[in-house]
Amino acid sequence: MKKNIIIIATGGTIAGRGEAGKAADYQAGRIDVNDIVQSIPAITDRAALTTIQMCNVDSNDMDEEKWLRLRDLINLYGADPSVDGIVVTHGTDTLEETAFFLNLTIAHQKPVVLTGSMRPATATSADGPMNLYQAIALAASEEARNAGVLALFSDTIYSGRDIQKINSYKTDAFEIGDFGCLGYMRDDQVYFLSKTDKPHTADSIFAKQDIHSLPKVAIAYYHCGADSALLSTISRSCDGLVIAGSGSGNYSTAWKQQLHELSKEKIIVRSSRVLQGIVFDSPFFDPNKETIPSYTLSPQKARILLMLALTITKDPKQIRSFFETY
Ligand code: ASP
Repeated sequence: MKKNIIIIATGGTIAGRGEAGKAADYQAGRIDVNDIVQSIPAITDRAALTTIQMCNVDSNDMDEEKWLRLRDLINLYGADPSVDGIVVTHGTDTLEETAFFLNLTIAHQKPVVLTGSMRPATATSADGPMNLYQAIALAASEEARNAGVLALFSDTIYSGRDIQKINSYKTDAFEIGDFGCLGYMRDDQVYFLSKTDKPHTADSIFAKQDIHSLPKVAIAYYHCGADSALLSTISRSCDGLVIAGSGSGNYSTAWKQQLHELSKEKIIVRSSRVLQGIVFDSPFFDPNKETIPSYTLSPQKARILLMLALTITKDPKQIRSFFETY
């Protein structure tokens, strides 16, 4: 029996159009999802597909409103007993942010798999069709149920929680840092090696929330000589702040003093601009625990968790517990 898979297309390079055969200088989000599906031989032998073009944008134009719309669509189709799994096509630039947002807000345990491509659909050896083929196969598999939101790229299965773009150019553009990957695909066959231990989807407190808009959280990027006055300017227009610190979430003495003042009014999360590792409480940079460590979340993922946390509470202790949990 063929599985029923919904493909929700949002745009990205997988729907990109450029000069025939060339991989550079194209426009993302130009080709209809049905045209991409038709370019994949044998795809309909694997699953019965329903396509939905939610939007067709470069993923840098994804925003909180589109995330909420996407979450609603995925929840709607997930509640339909005839649907077995959902694939989302997405630009690679911000795929990790959408994946983490969905991982925390989808209310069901059916497979949800994000994919995209680094080469436009019109390129020689476009990578989109194979990625989409494998994403559909993964979404149709039993193993992908209750595994959290997943991402599929270059024969590799990633968790939506941890995936990050680590190469701005090559087709093999993603990693989950130190943790390798969750598994591999061999054409349409699924080989899981591990699964995330963190609560997600139906087990996430945020999936039970009725969220219609998200609080504003900004990211302040630390670098040598970074002006500390910038922190109060940014934080004036937001409800919470994430620091992309150096090393294990660090910054200058001037930033330390400024953050001490700001933490009286705003929730501040300390994350790191370094791609791998973990940020814990720091007895030197924040001896009174006025900020919350992001642990293994990158600044852009910590921002999402802080936005969601602020829909529930402003209590620093409870928000800290969310960062410990998710
Ligand atoms: N700029 C594109 C996007 O994120 C890049 C890609 O999809 O690879 O939509």
